[in-house]
Parts: sequence; structure tokens; C-alpha cells
Amino acid sequence: MSAVIEPRVEYDVESIRRDFPILKRLARGKHLVYLDNAATTQKPRQVIDRIVRYYSEENSNVHRGVHYLSELATVEYENARGYVQRFINARDVKEIVFTRGTTESINLVAQTWGRKNVGAGDEILISAIEHHSNIVPWQMLCAEKNATLRIVPVADNGELLIDEYERMLNPRVKLVAVGHGSNALGTINPIKRMIAAAHANGSLVLIDGAQGVPHMRVDVQDHGSDFYAFSGHKVYGPTGVGVLYGREALLDAMPPWQGGGDMILSVSFEKTTYNALPYKFEAGTPNIAGVIGLAAALEYVSSIGLDAIAAYEHELLVYATNRLREIEGLRIIGTAREKAAVISFVLEGVHPHDIGTILDQEGIAVRTGHHCAQPVMLRYNIPATGRASFGLYNTKEEADVLVAGLRKVIEVFR
Ligand code: PLP
Repeated sequence: MSAVIEPRVEYDVESIRRDFPILKRLARGKHLVYLDNAATTQKPRQVIDRIVRYYSEENSNVHRGVHYLSELATVEYENARGYVQRFINARDVKEIVFTRGTTESINLVAQTWGRKNVGAGDEILISAIEHHSNIVPWQMLCAEKNATLRIVPVADNGELLIDEYERMLNPRVKLVAVGHGSNALGTINPIKRMIAAAHANGSLVLIDGAQGVPHMRVDVQDHGSDFYAFSGHKVYGPTGVGVLYGREALLDAMPPWQGGGDMILSVSFEKTTYNALPYKFEAGTPNIAGVIGLAAALEYVSSIGLDAIAAYEHELLVYATNRLREIEGLRIIGTAREKAAVISFVLEGVHPHDIGTILDQEGIAVRTGHHCAQPVMLRYNIPATGRASFGLYNTKEEADVLVAGLRKVIEVFR
């Protein structure tokens, strides 16, 4: 795996679907219509095969062996890091830390940078539409340090109130932590503008990119974030692996988090010296197969083209939104102008869990609940929503199947 590959020329969704073996299966005797991509995406043959090849031909521990297989596994593991670096356009491979996922990446920053740099009276700004993963680590830090967590409000359509955000920036704000995209509402936040405003205020910015990387081209140098976190499994890669990008100077100045093998240069009972970046933050045997599978997934989406994926998913979003609006009594929660293909909705007189259960009988997988974003539900005064989230392999026909399924739900409750 070397350079980021050139994209395919045209978007051929049928050929893309053939790459995903699971899409051929039936669910409850019906064709599977998988619309739960914001929770996790399916995996293409290219990723599955790469993981099988790793375990069949290359498996060994990394960084510690002089034998052939260990060297091979190490080369593949580090090549994967190089691929991630190029994929998000980081300046250096040292800025790419492998973690278990977005959640662990955010906790790493809270527990290392945060513990060192946030003190009593300081403020951390998050938004009203964050996933719990980008709320709770900051609440824990603020409680420990007597700092204050402040919340950027959201308009009724799901867009953050950016003028209000800019007014909330003040010298006490040490960090702004916001999502690139909202998993509950689909809103894509104007992160470039938000980052520039934070930097002008002297604050650092962490972007929760769990719903960014799968849907659009991400260039960390262009948008300028200080930290960017994402998960492999949401971008057609394996579970249990993710990335923390951090600017080198920041990572360098941060204390390590977990202690153990690989994150040290030398250990004695008197004194331990820590390894260089990025290994300082990768204690213990990493998820080697996961990292290699993640690179294969990024290679896969690059081969289709991030811009092509974004354009195709936008087409699906517009189509599905219009079709869902035909349903009487259905209300879409989150109608931001910039949206990923995530549609949250409520249906008059029907609890979202019932929607999910009835759709499931039709082979349609949607998520129902609070989507790990309970404050969002409180903001809109609803207990839960149904959520259809589209990925690069979904089709307009599947949106039609969803609409037909929802009409059946209405029939049941009539
Ligand atoms: N942030 C957002 C916006 C998400 O959608 C998710 C997962 O749904 C997460 C964070 C947490 O990701 P993970 O569970 O992979 O750590």
C-alpha cells in the first residue's frame, strides 16, 4: 500500500454493492436494507480479504521482533499509519496515533492534554448536539479540575448558533470540542470557521470526526484542527480501531496516558523514559489486524473518491428526504442546510421503538432511540427518534422500500 489511489471514474453503485458480501443476505426472509450506517458500516470484500491475508500470512507482533514475520507485520502496520497520514493530509506520521476508536481518542486528549492544561475556572466549549463520547470525557475532566463545561446552542433546524458560539469564546476557553457531523441530526458543522474563531481566541480545537471521515474529504491542515478523532468501523473498516490525529508539538508536550510495553524507551525501577511519537501513546500490543484493515478501508473509499461519495450520498439525502416528507404525520428532526445523509424522524402517534420493530420485519435496519445523544432529544422535547442513515452503497430504491415500510407502520397503528 503506497500512494492514495486515484478514484474510479464513475459512480457505479451496483458494482460497489457487489463488494459488500453482507448486502446479499436476507434479513427476516426479506432483502436486507441496511440504513444504520451512522452506527456502523458494512465491510467490503477488500477489507475482509486484507484481514484474512494478515492472519493467514503475516500475523506476528510488531516492533519487537527481528524475525521475518515480525518485520513484515511491522512494515504493514507502519505503512497503514502512512496511509492514514496521507488520507487526512497530516504533516507527519508522528501525528497519527492508533486507538480503539473515536471514544478512546477523545478520552486520551481529555486525560493527557486536558489534565495538564485545564485548571480551575477554565472553560471547555462543546455543542448541544454532541455524541455522549464528546460530552462525558469533558464532564469528567471539568469535575476533576473545577473547570466549566459550556454548551453552544443549536437552532430548531439543527444548525449550531455560530454567532452565539463566537460570543462565548473568551480568554478562559481552553478547548473547543465539536463534532464534524452530528450522528443524531446529520448536521455538518462549519468547522473551518469555528476553528479559525477559536484559534483567534487562543483556544485549541478537537474535532470529533466519527461522522466526518465516512462522508467527505478531510484535510486536517486545511481546516486546521489541533486534534481530530475518528473510528475505523464507521468508514467501512473494522471495529476496535480508530485514530487520534494531533499536531506534533501538542502531542509531544502531552504526558503519556496508558503505561506498558511499546510506549517506553527504557524501564528501570528507578526511572522510565518514554518512547517517541506516536508510540508514546500506543501502550501494549495494538490492534494490528484492525489497523491494517482500516488502511484497506481508507484505500477502498479513496478508490471510489471522497468527493464522489459525498455527491452521491447528498443525492440520496435529497431523494429520501423528499420521499419521507410525503408521509403524513412524519416530522424530520434536523433540517440543517449542510447535512450528511442521516435522517432522524418521528411519526405522530407511534413510538420510535415500534417503528424500528415493524421495519425490521421488512428486513429494514434503522436505528431507534436517543443515538447516544440524549441532550439532543431533550432539546427537541422528544424521547427518541427513528434514524435512517445512508452509506455509499445505499440506493434510491432502498429509500422507497423504507417509505413503503413506514406506510405499513402507519397501517398497524391506524
Ligand atoms: N461521535 C459520533 C458523532 C458518533 O457518531 C459516534 C458513534 O456513533 C462516536 C462519537 C463514538 O464512536 P465509537 O463508538 O466508534 O468510539
